[in-house]
Amino acid sequence: MLWSLLKVVIFIAIVAGLTFGVGRLSEFDEVAFLTVAGREFALTPIMAIVLATVLLLGVWLLFKAVGLIVATLRFLNGDETAISRYFNRRAERKGFEALAEGMMALAAGEGRLAIRKAERAEKYLSRPELTKLVLAQGAEMAGDRALATETYKALVTDNRTRFVGVRGLMKQKLESGDTETAMKLAERALALRPKNEEVQTTLLQLQARHEDWAGARATLSKALKAGNVPRDLHKRRDAVLALAHARAAMAEGKIADATRDATEANRLAPTLVPAAVMAARLAIADKNPRNAAKIIKAAWTTEPHPDLAAAFAEIEPNETPAARLKRFQPLLAKHPGNPETKLLEAELQIAKEDFPAARRALGDLAETHPNARSLTIMAAIERGQGAEDRIVRAWLARAVTASRGPQWICGNCGHVHAEWRPVCANCESFDTLAWEEAPQSEAALAGPASMLPLIVGALEDHRGPEVEEADTVAETVEETNDDAAPEATEATPSDNATETVAEARN
Ligand SMILES: [Zn+2]
Repeated sequence: MLWSLLKVVIFIAIVAGLTFGVGRLSEFDEVAFLTVAGREFALTPIMAIVLATVLLLGVWLLFKAVGLIVATLRFLNGDETAISRYFNRRAERKGFEALAEGMMALAAGEGRLAIRKAERAEKYLSRPELTKLVLAQGAEMAGDRALATETYKALVTDNRTRFVGVRGLMKQKLESGDTETAMKLAERALALRPKNEEVQTTLLQLQARHEDWAGARATLSKALKAGNVPRDLHKRRDAVLALAHARAAMAEGKIADATRDATEANRLAPTLVPAAVMAARLAIADKNPRNAAKIIKAAWTTEPHPDLAAAFAEIEPNETPAARLKRFQPLLAKHPGNPETKLLEAELQIAKEDFPAARRALGDLAETHPNARSLTIMAAIERGQGAEDRIVRAWLARAVTASRGPQWICGNCGHVHAEWRPVCANCESFDTLAWEEAPQSEAALAGPASMLPLIVGALEDHRGPEVEEADTVAETVEETNDDAAPEATEATPSDNATETVAEARN
C-alpha cells in the first residue's frame, strides 16, 4: 500500500521534472548547427534531443537485427541457438500438454485416447521413458496386446524403465498362461528390484506351482529380509515349503531327505497338521513311537484334527479297542467340549462296542451340529444297539443331505480337497488350504433331498462296500475296528455299524 503510494509520487515527480525540463529548454533560443554532407541544419534543443533518441533507438534495432541474422545462420548450420531453443520450448510445452492429457485419459479409463495422446507427446518430447509408460498402460487398457508387448520391449532397453518393461511382459505371460516364461521374467524383475513385494509374491506363487520348493524358499527369505512378510507368516510358509519338499523327496524314495524336511517343517510350525502327521508317520517308520506320540500331542494341543487321530492310532496298530481308548485319553482330555474330541471318543467307543458310552460321548452333537460324520455315527450307534432298520435309515437319510463337516478348503476359490496340498488343485494358489466347513448351498441340498427315497431304498439292495472318497469317519471307524480286532470274522453289531458308516459314504 505504502509502496504503491510511493510509486505514484515518484511517477508524478518524474513527469513534473520532464515538463519543467522541456519548458526550460524551449525557452533557449540558441540554435545548434549540424553539418551533414556539406549541408547545414539548424536545430532547436528539443529537436536535438528527439534526434538523439531516434538515433539511439536505430542503433539498438540494428544490433538486434544483426543478432537474429547470426542466430538464423547458425541454426541453418545445425547449431543449437536461440531460434531452435525457442521452437524446442514450444514443442516441449505441447508434448507435456499431450502427456498430461494422456494421463488424464488413463485415469478416466479411456485407453484409445491415452494411446493417441502418448503418441502425440512422443512426437514432441524426446522422453520415451515417460511417453512409453503412458502408451503401454493405454494399450493394456484398450486391450491392444501387440502394442503393449512392443512398448514393454522398448521399455526393457532403457536402464531407467527396464523393471517396468520386464514386469509388464511378465504380467502378459501370466495372463496368457505361459507360466514358465513368466517365472523367468519374474526372476529377472526381482534381480532388478529385490525388494518389490508384488514380484516376490508372484515369483513365490509360480515357483510353488512349478514345484520348485528350494527356489520358493529362497524367494520367501528375500521377502522376509525386505520386510514384506510378517515373521510368523514367513515361518508358516517356510514350513509349508519344507513339507512340500519332504513330500517330493518321499515320492522319489529319498527317506533321509524327507525325514529331515518333515522334521524341520514340524519344528517351524508345530500346528501345521499335515507336517505333524508326516513327521509322526516317519517317526513310526523309524521305530520311534515315543517321538511320534509327542509330535501328535503337540499339534493336537492347538487344534484337534482327525488326521492327527488317525496317525496317533497308527502308533499301535495291533492294540485292542479298550487299550486304544485308554491310550487316546491324553488327547481326549485336551479339548473336552470340542466337536472333534466328541466324535473321536464316540468312534473309539463304537470300536469297543460300548454303544451307550458312544452315545454319551457324542452328546447332543447330532442335534446341535449335525453333519455327515456325526449323523453317521448316530446311525452306527442305533445299529449297534439293535434299533429298527427304519430308525437307522432315518439317521442315514439325514446324513446324506447334511453338511460334510470340516474339509480342506481353498480360501481363494473354495475348492474342496480330499487331502491337504501346498498348492490348490483348482486355482493353483500357494498355501490357501484351511480346515473349514464348506458353506452349504441350497442348490446342493435340493438335489439329493429329492432323491432321498431312491437312495434310502437302494441302500438295502446294493450293499456296495467300495468307498471312493472315504474320509476320516469311515477310515477311522474301519481302521480302529479292523486293526483292533482282525480276528473278528462273524457279523457283530459293531461290524454292522461299520458297514452302515461305509454305506452312508456312498
Ligand atoms: Zn483354490
